[in-house]
Amino acid sequence: MKKCDGCGKVAAKFVEFPCPDCGETIIRCLHCRELGVPYVCKKCKIEGP
Ligand SMILES: [Zn+2]
Ligand SMILES: [Zn+2]
Repeated sequence: MKKCDGCGKVAAKFVEFPCPDCGETIIRCLHCRELGVPYVCKKCKIEGP
């Protein structure tokens, strides 16, 4: 269980990927991935689809 960087909820199912800018790991739940909710990187604050 990790906290989603899109919706801020703790998710059981999620994907992890490195931030395209700084390489920080971004957590995104399947809900946000399917809906295309933007994420904000914790480290460099970029927003992505
Ligand atoms: Zn989410
Ligand atoms: Zn970043």
